[in-house]
Amino acid sequence: METRDVVIIGSGPAGYTAALYASRANLKPLVIMGHEPGGQLTTTTDVENFPGFPEGVMGPDLMQKMKAQAERFGTEYLTSHVSDVDLSKRPFTLKTESGDTFQTQTLIISTGASAKYLGLPNEKELIGKGVSACATCDGFFFRDQIVHVVGGGDTAMEEAMFLSKFASKVSILHRRDSLRASKPMQQRVFDNPKIEIVWNTEVQEILANDQGVYAIKVLNNQTNEVMERPTNGLFMGIGHTPNTGFLNNQIKLDDHGFIITQGKHPDTNVPGVFACGDVQDSYYRQAISAAGSGCEAAMRAERYLEENGHA
Ligand code: NDP
Repeated sequence: METRDVVIIGSGPAGYTAALYASRANLKPLVIMGHEPGGQLTTTTDVENFPGFPEGVMGPDLMQKMKAQAERFGTEYLTSHVSDVDLSKRPFTLKTESGDTFQTQTLIISTGASAKYLGLPNEKELIGKGVSACATCDGFFFRDQIVHVVGGGDTAMEEAMFLSKFASKVSILHRRDSLRASKPMQQRVFDNPKIEIVWNTEVQEILANDQGVYAIKVLNNQTNEVMERPTNGLFMGIGHTPNTGFLNNQIKLDDHGFIITQGKHPDTNVPGVFACGDVQDSYYRQAISAAGSGCEAAMRAERYLEENGHA
């Protein structure tokens, strides 16, 4: 079986940028694209904060452009999903769901993270029509409107703070009577006159018409009272799940399942395996920061190959 120099798992901004750099270094990378080629940006509409697009760019278009740019320099793509890896021996071995096996000297993991949703029947079809899990991406569209944020952790506080710059009112719905968020974040929320916290409250139903979301039905889990709350937007702030399950604990992860990288480099605890994008970043989670870390991962892979006599 042919042993590749670089295989990249995942095809968001991190994976495509890693592919661009690796292919321009003549390493002929293979990108195994995963279940959602293009990643989280393919579920958004306008992206207005990616530098170089003064008029904004549609998320799927941006991903298509990144893919084509890496392809131009020799990147190969495979629409499949890696189900199993063996990182105990070199070269590393990868198996895909479709039954292919690959060997590679270096591996770049850019499988991203998926925002958690509540599991309500219509929430996924209302993404882009009032339901969102990214205030930084979509907050701007809710100028002078009413929005609700679900969750009681730092993500929900951050989403609410960001949304308060645009929305006329932000209500945080939390299922308990105390927040999980860090104390400084809590204080910022308490001090913000546009934000209210609705305690002990769970979303039961999202009500929408042709224009999108117009209200939610919520349950007070202490009084069992159900009421309708008018809203234009419903933001999920209940955390992200990094896509690291397929690694079967062969790479060091933090308590939330994110890959731990070493200091300022994208190296993991296994030499020759690098991680970039949201799979190793619970803090910034931006397309541009993911792309930057993808560049770094490819450059580290190139350096590793040189140092180990493979290139
Ligand atoms: P957390 O796990 O900390 O919080 C998730 C919140 O969502 C909890 O309040 C939880 O409720 C609630 N929740 C989870 N599932 C549901 C559900 N099905 N229905 C209703 N509510 C639900 O995740 P975060 O994403 O907030 O934070 C993850 C990590 O990232 C943390 O370490 C955080 O500190 C860090 N972070 C740091 C930031 C910063 O420093 N600027 C910004 C964002 C994140 P309950 O409390 O009842 O469990």
